[in-house]
Amino acid sequence: MAPVHLIRNLLAAVFIYGGCVSTDATPRAITRDVVIIGGGASGAHAAVRLKDMGQSIVLVEKQAILGGAVDTYTAPLAGTPVDYGVFSFIDYGDASAFLARLNISTAPPLQFPSATRHVDFMTGKELTSYVSPEWTDVVAALEVYLEQCEKYEHMLVPGLWDFPEGADIPEDLLMNFGEFATKYGIEAALPTIFISTGLGMGKFADELTMTVMQTFGGQMARALLGLQGSFVPASRRNQDIYDAIAALLGDDDVLYSTTAVSSERDDDGVTVTVRNREDGSLTTIYAARLLIAIPPLVDLLEPFDLDAQEEAVFSQWEYTREYAVLVRSPFLTALNESVANLPLAAQPSNYLRTPDVPFVDQFALLGGPDELAHPRIIGDEALDARGARLLLRKQFAALVAGSDAGTEKGLDVVAFADHGPMHLHVSADSHRKGFFKDLYALQGRRSTWYTGSAFASNFQTVLWEYNEVLLPQMLGS
Ligand SMILES: Cc1cc2nc3c(=O)[nH]c(=O)nc-3n(C[C@H](O)[C@H](O)[C@H](O)COP(=O)(O)OP(=O)(O)OC[C@H]3O[C@@H](n4cnc5c(N)ncnc54)[C@H](O)[C@@H]3O)c2cc1C
Repeated sequence: MAPVHLIRNLLAAVFIYGGCVSTDATPRAITRDVVIIGGGASGAHAAVRLKDMGQSIVLVEKQAILGGAVDTYTAPLAGTPVDYGVFSFIDYGDASAFLARLNISTAPPLQFPSATRHVDFMTGKELTSYVSPEWTDVVAALEVYLEQCEKYEHMLVPGLWDFPEGADIPEDLLMNFGEFATKYGIEAALPTIFISTGLGMGKFADELTMTVMQTFGGQMARALLGLQGSFVPASRRNQDIYDAIAALLGDDDVLYSTTAVSSERDDDGVTVTVRNREDGSLTTIYAARLLIAIPPLVDLLEPFDLDAQEEAVFSQWEYTREYAVLVRSPFLTALNESVANLPLAAQPSNYLRTPDVPFVDQFALLGGPDELAHPRIIGDEALDARGARLLLRKQFAALVAGSDAGTEKGLDVVAFADHGPMHLHVSADSHRKGFFKDLYALQGRRSTWYTGSAFASNFQTVLWEYNEVLLPQMLGS
């Protein structure tokens, strides 16, 4: 690799981190077949599978552990794990075999507690005339939804290689989901779709049906209908999966607490300079290929010096932000039931109505001696972690103020996970202009490949399966 890469990367690193890196720091240099950026669901899985395929790799992860959206908290009194990020894994593709080779035995997921009370968290007013759909109606609606999902599944999962463009895109997929739900009479399924995974999109009735299908598609519908399995580790600690991957990879193959600061990419290979966030040390990685497994947003990819073609594609994304939280409050304990957020206009049975963004979805009581409750906070691109914490307190205060159950306002946030940009999606217009064709055309350009939910669907095991198709393509290129 040309030494000029090294010099430029070092200068860029000094420029970006001028205050904390001395100018005479010489980066350590390593050489690998593939450098992977991001050790979440897609990046960590890809690291294992690439090693299986005989590749040398290095995985660069911003956090001190692998696992991305998996958040496992150990409840101090009960001494048990509580997964407040990723909840369960759908049995899809080679997922079971992958866990078996990690020596992870599995068990069915526990039932997530459902809310028995509905309150408008903006006003604190209870929805006294709200009627939840009967489960038989939910099942019937999910069956109709599944039938529709199955028509398009081959275009959407595990990847969108065959997604059509222009007039060939089925009209239903570019229809707003609210309109689609009304067209097929599946309104009774909406509260279930929303509270399981749909809420991450914000106001899901206004999103495109294909975006909803990437977030709650055929697998989820089948899982809820008992037609497809799902599992968690038998330890009931989802982090065990990613800890097992970390152990398998070993310390030489993972750079923790590390992010890229600069890079050079061309058709002959890549040079990526990365910096450890704890000690400021630099490492320069020379690799034949770069696999990006973080959200492909222009600002996050700044160290990769995007060219005009890449920027034109990645600047089209819209997204939400999601924060997963565990709280404890005497008020919630006294309430003794889970309470979900719905606007008053959802009464008596307007299932298309969901809270305005940003919102706290619910306070789901998890039971046990630790008296934990689990809210999630969803916002648009502008909702940062501070704003999310303020919103949590504000909507909790409204809940307390509107209740007869007590005035105790104490709310301890015991765990708070920032999941960053989520649910990357584009407009119907972008789809008509061939967005996915343009996106996938970037695969392999400048020795750079991409995995992760923006390129596939928002499920752990679907991403693992996406890798099973992508990685051989990458190595064969
Ligand atoms: C709260 C929540 C609950 C979910 N529940 C489920 C569920 O129950 N079942 C399911 O199948 N799916 C679930 N999902 C969806 C699923 O987890 C995601 O689709 C999946 O994690 C996306 O994988 P990814 O590799 O694209 O990103 P992530 O898994 O988010 O991984 C990205 C990784 O990159 C790292 N990173 C970010 N920026 C940088 C950088 N600049 N340099 C280096 N590293 C960086 C991050 O720390 C992270 O480890 C859930 C998601 C969330 C947020």
